Amino acid sequence: MRKKKIKTILIGILGIIIPISMIILYHFDQKEIVIYQPQTIVKDQKAYLISITYPKTNLSKVDHKIMNYINQQTKILKSNITEFPYLINRSELNIDFEYSTFNQRYMNILLKTDYYDGEEQQNYYDLYSILYDLKQKQFLNILDFFSEQEKLFKKIQDSFQKEKGITISNLDSLSMIISNDQLIVYYPSDQLYSISIPLIELNLNLKITTEKKELDSKELQRVVSTIDPTKPVVAITFDDGPSEYTKEIIKTLKENDCNATFFVLGNKVEAYQDVIRESIKNGNEIGNHSYNHKWLSRLSEKEIMEQINKTQDILQQTVEYTPTHLRPTYGSVNQRIKNSTNLSITLWTIDTKDWKIKNIDRIVEKAMKDIEDGDIILMHDIFERSSEALKKLIPLLKEQGYQLVTISELEEVKLLRTKY
Ligand code: ZN
Repeated sequence: MRKKKIKTILIGILGIIIPISMIILYHFDQKEIVIYQPQTIVKDQKAYLISITYPKTNLSKVDHKIMNYINQQTKILKSNITEFPYLINRSELNIDFEYSTFNQRYMNILLKTDYYDGEEQQNYYDLYSILYDLKQKQFLNILDFFSEQEKLFKKIQDSFQKEKGITISNLDSLSMIISNDQLIVYYPSDQLYSISIPLIELNLNLKITTEKKELDSKELQRVVSTIDPTKPVVAITFDDGPSEYTKEIIKTLKENDCNATFFVLGNKVEAYQDVIRESIKNGNEIGNHSYNHKWLSRLSEKEIMEQINKTQDILQQTVEYTPTHLRPTYGSVNQRIKNSTNLSITLWTIDTKDWKIKNIDRIVEKAMKDIEDGDIILMHDIFERSSEALKKLIPLLKEQGYQLVTISELEEVKLLRTKY
């Protein structure tokens, strides 16, 4: 009798333990899934400029590391600032990133800092690499993938010597990311140098399979809008996007039968390509706002061209669209920018200051205050408040008889009016 009782209890206990341990094992085996959205921070201060684009992921451990790095770099900038620099001597902190995944298991992020000291007129580069194993849920060092580090170093050293004419003395001074069947190696010095080596030429501990990017080449059918040139027109423009709020803005525009122009950053195009595609389909215009929001008027013509062309190229490759207009960062234009591009340089006539003003009604007020036929309104599609302000702004503009058009349409209307 007693033995039977023990047996029943044992079976009972096992009946609880086995399912629980299976659940635990299952969870251990569950791979984390990572999604990311690029975020942009832009600060235009008297003493300095900040533009940071970073990936916000769904993994708090990773986000924590990213934010720590950004805070650390921002602190360095602020500690170096003298109290009253001349505007021309402003310092600039620019952080950009590379993102890749491979073997459906590893996520690789490289944060790239370009810090310009305005008083010394000198650039400093810093890199921070994050490699995360989505299966083991832990951070790794990229060098762990290479069985023969001596050979790897030799190969990297040769490439830098051959391609850039620089001598590399050790692996510690380098940062690496695995992306699209290539090992990309960065060397921060007086410039940010980089080389790419096909993975096939390197001895790796694992066979790397990269996820091919699916390019959607569906023909884009643009909505053609009808504009009456005898009636007033106004162009709303959005800078620094796309972001998670752009979709809602596009929806609001569509519901109201309006169009706008989005001056996008090249480094966000790929992650938000669906939103951009939808935007173009609805008849909106896409403009160029540089690749990673560097202060263009500080750069050389070669660097300005790189900033503009990289964005043109990625828009052409991902959504088959070629912008015709450029909005220079911080609205600052000089002769070097004019020499560097055939795109029409487009500023604005009304600044809503939505980057500073948190109150939705005040943003709307700013836009409506001195509005006139032919005005260009500046907003930013990286804030939820700007998306909300648009919902209030559109009916007010329509009430006054305005047609909400793109920059190209606005120019066409102005041209038509000079003819008749
Ligand atoms: Zn901007």
